[in-house]
Amino acid sequence: MNKKIIALLLCLLLCFAMASSFKLIAEAADHHCSGRDCHICLELRASFSLLNGIILAVIAAFLLSVAVSACPLLKRRFGAGRKDTLVSLKVRLTI
Ligand SMILES: [Zn+2]
Repeated sequence: MNKKIIALLLCLLLCFAMASSFKLIAEAADHHCSGRDCHICLELRASFSLLNGIILAVIAAFLLSVAVSACPLLKRRFGAGRKDTLVSLKVRLTI
């Protein structure tokens, strides 16, 4: 399967998880809490934890992309323009 399709599917899954977490938080924010073992509070904590993880991952990806684009050595190693050709690898063809 193509890498772009996999990336698109993962992005859609991430957006769906974020949207469902926001929806759950918005709907259950003013629930009637039954006490310490409230299952809605547990779901709210799980949603907040998921959103915190997603936000941290997005921040880490952003910082990594800034670091790769700012540092020439990292850009050469991980950049999108890196293509190995016979000329760039300095391969000499002898007949
Ligand atoms: Zn509760």
